[in-house]
Amino acid sequence: MIAPVLPSYSRAPLSFVSGEGAWLVEADGRRFLDFGAGIAVSALGHAHPALVEALTAQAGKLWHTSNLYTVPEQQALAERLVEHTFADTVFFCNSGTEAGELAVKMARKYWHDAGQPERTTILTFEGSFHGRSLAMISAAGSEKLTKGFGPLLPGFDHLPFGDHDALRAAAARPDVGAIMVEPVQGEGGIRPLPDVCLKGLRDLCDEHGLLLIFDEIQCGMGRTGRLFAHEWAGITPDIMMVAKGIGGGFPLGALLATERAAAGMTPGTHGSTYGGNPLGCAVGCAVMDAMTEAGFLEEVARRARLLRQKAEGLVASHPDIFEGVRGSGFMLGLRCNVPNIDVVNAGYGQEILTVPGGDNVVRLLPPLILSEDEIAEGIARLDAAATTLEDTARDAAQ
Ligand SMILES: *Cc1c(COP(=O)(O)O)cnc(C)c1O
Repeated sequence: MIAPVLPSYSRAPLSFVSGEGAWLVEADGRRFLDFGAGIAVSALGHAHPALVEALTAQAGKLWHTSNLYTVPEQQALAERLVEHTFADTVFFCNSGTEAGELAVKMARKYWHDAGQPERTTILTFEGSFHGRSLAMISAAGSEKLTKGFGPLLPGFDHLPFGDHDALRAAAARPDVGAIMVEPVQGEGGIRPLPDVCLKGLRDLCDEHGLLLIFDEIQCGMGRTGRLFAHEWAGITPDIMMVAKGIGGGFPLGALLATERAAAGMTPGTHGSTYGGNPLGCAVGCAVMDAMTEAGFLEEVARRARLLRQKAEGLVASHPDIFEGVRGSGFMLGLRCNVPNIDVVNAGYGQEILTVPGGDNVVRLLPPLILSEDEIAEGIARLDAAATTLEDTARDAAQ
């Protein structure tokens, strides 16, 4: 008999009833150090006082009106995002996938209005992940996401990761209108695009007049030590998808855009019943206020360097288990020499949570408030997990 909850996830036998900072607690009191943050969502940790305050204060005042009216919390969050990014305008939705859907609509409308409606193709990259709607699985294109769900949406062309010649040739085609890319691939296994590639993408888009769409749903909101990962490269996109960390655990997504890219999105062209509702936007404002407080991101970058250094040490002392570390900030990937899920499961035994990723990587995506002591504790637990795997392998060989 099928389970009452659709079994579309293979779930670990863990269940949490409360959380505080970087810790999650099971009903029996077992405390887990959370190096996954709900897949980069709980960026400020669990039960952050400012977020709890923002949500409860708003919950006592007003939950929902409609986008038929002005929503003050939505205005306030849009102003913060515009102030701190390249963007001139923001649309709010409830998830990353929805932000991606609007990114595609916006790019198509842009070229429609520019008198070149044939420019419908969006270039994407192998190993990318943009969400689970039909458009977003079509965008990413991998068999893992799409098998059994055809017919897929036309209008995406998937390029090999790191093949500059293929990219150059594709960008020159008359049917291409935009490039969509994660500055750091998340689900694909923490694969960062070097700054020089991000700059190259910007130049290529400028050369052909294409729109550059960044998916910063996982790598944005402070995760790399800047508010958004592309800031390290000193360039900006035309359109950017944001979600996960922006709501700190409350479902919230946003599509940010320049005035030029968004010009076609006039009244009636897009909408969402819940998008930008007062609860989500009140929390989003609290998240933005915490992250843009003087020194916050510098401190994230500083502690992230410590995590990186300790992760390098961990990898070096377990060469049979780990191959290397990649990524930046609080977004690291440990490439494994054993199945990554074995490492994640061994971590559960040591009461530390990590997240498996593509390319046989274990992802470390801790909350940005992780302390130096918690960094040391987390690495010690991963070290113990790796040791248990080594012991098991040795026993099996005997
Ligand atoms: C999680 C994620 C998405 C999808 O976001 P949802 O909120 O699950 O719809 C899209 N792109 C990237 C890079 C992600 O990490």
